[in-house]
Amino acid sequence: MNVYDGLRIAAMLEHHGFTQTDNIADADIILLNTCAVRAKATDKVYSALGRIRRAKKPDAIYGIVGCVARESGSDAFRKIKDLNFVLGPQSYHKLPEILSDPDTKLLDINLGGLEKFDELPPITKSPYVAYIPVQEGCNHCCTYCIVPYTRGPEISRPFDDIIAETQHAADVGAIEICFLGQNVNGYKYTDKNGKTYRLSDIIQETAKISNINRIRFTSSYPTEMTDDLIELFGTEKKLLPFLNMPIQSGSDNILKKMNRQYSLAEYIKIIDKFKHVQPNIQISSDFIVGFPGESEQDFEQTMDVAKRIGYINSYSFKYSPRPHTAAAIMPDQIPENIKSERLIKLDALLNDRQREFNLSCIDKIFDCLYESPDKTGIKHIYRTPYMQPCIVTTDKPTPMAKIKITSANKSCLHGKIID
Ligand code: SF4
Repeated sequence: MNVYDGLRIAAMLEHHGFTQTDNIADADIILLNTCAVRAKATDKVYSALGRIRRAKKPDAIYGIVGCVARESGSDAFRKIKDLNFVLGPQSYHKLPEILSDPDTKLLDINLGGLEKFDELPPITKSPYVAYIPVQEGCNHCCTYCIVPYTRGPEISRPFDDIIAETQHAADVGAIEICFLGQNVNGYKYTDKNGKTYRLSDIIQETAKISNINRIRFTSSYPTEMTDDLIELFGTEKKLLPFLNMPIQSGSDNILKKMNRQYSLAEYIKIIDKFKHVQPNIQISSDFIVGFPGESEQDFEQTMDVAKRIGYINSYSFKYSPRPHTAAAIMPDQIPENIKSERLIKLDALLNDRQREFNLSCIDKIFDCLYESPDKTGIKHIYRTPYMQPCIVTTDKPTPMAKIKITSANKSCLHGKIID
């Protein structure tokens, strides 16, 4: 979501005559697009602002946008006196107001609207992967999560607007579309004629766009997986056979405390349905270890499910208390050293499985999408349908290539273009 927001902000500033620079000392306007999901990211914002303040031109304006802006509100101006703007994730389209009057302080952390999508100028060029949000906010109330506070209640965008933005992205260069939402598979929009659209409708309509070769979406909530969506994985060739479906914990006790509205058995049943319609599907997940009250036995259940499902790549984090959340004030917080030990154990298991899956890809042939040159600038990185980076040597990288995998390690694949 932040990548999308960042691209739209850049496009908006370009529309106002700005060009991008990597050098802070050259910049006339500097903004930090911030994430508040974990405490560490939030903590870094103010030290980064201090660094920007020291490095910028005296008359350059600077500020924060995104979830930390929403969380901090006017407090940010109290902490950093000469900060120019603080704009929440649904207000960054208001940034041009400060351009006409740089001496004001611009604060807008309001929620609840889709106004930004209408106000932003369309992008003029898309990377091969275009991120298209289908909704804002989230109605699930996971007890650890700050998102319902920072991004507000869930609102689905009109179906026609999403398809128009998708078509436009395809017209200006996109080959892969990644639909975004905090609860993306919960997308539901009813138009003025009473017709209701779900994520499966968006995917089917997008698949009709000839320049689009690959479709995916993130992030899914397990119990929002409707049968129409699951069945598409068996019928729609453009839908990648790869899905992020966060489980967070393998313990029913902890899932309940997290207010995740499924049990372990229900989660596994959903995965089984996917495997039934698409035997080649691979799953990734998110995990939180050290949630308040997590016993050794609860944690072992998380290890067991990680082994059983065999996720091919996952995001695992130590629980970090966030303001405005119920879990932050739960009494049975887990000491930091235990959280760290558990994270090391889980990561080792997840890494082993990732390596194993990557090795199993050797000699297979995948249709891959070009991403960028690698660090050396000599080789090139493609992405397989399972989103593994695949490094190839070629003088003429094409947007899509058939690649035979020749070797692999935990982090990436190496391959040879065969077509
Ligand atoms: S579903 Fe995701 S975004 Fe929504 S509250 Fe839960 S963790 Fe946060």
